[in-house]
Amino acid sequence: MKYLLVLGVVLFGIWLWRHNRAVAARERESDRKATAKPVLRQPPSVPTQMVACTQCGLHLPLADAVTGQNGHYCTDAHRRAHEA
Ligand SMILES: [Zn+2]
Repeated sequence: MKYLLVLGVVLFGIWLWRHNRAVAARERESDRKATAKPVLRQPPSVPTQMVACTQCGLHLPLADAVTGQNGHYCTDAHRRAHEA
């Protein structure tokens, strides 16, 4: 009976060891997947239209430009200075 108890403890220990190894392997695998670089899939970039400031000639994106009566300007101060 004593040997049966020892055998049970040993078998439980082996089961516990194998179970922990399987859990650790699963965690390593999920960590590897989580830290893997995502596939870079960028949408095709739309070219930004650049304009030159009518006052000073600075090139800037059209979205950032101030549009006046005579063209585009880098700042409102340049628009006022050119249109005055
Ligand atoms: Zn300017």
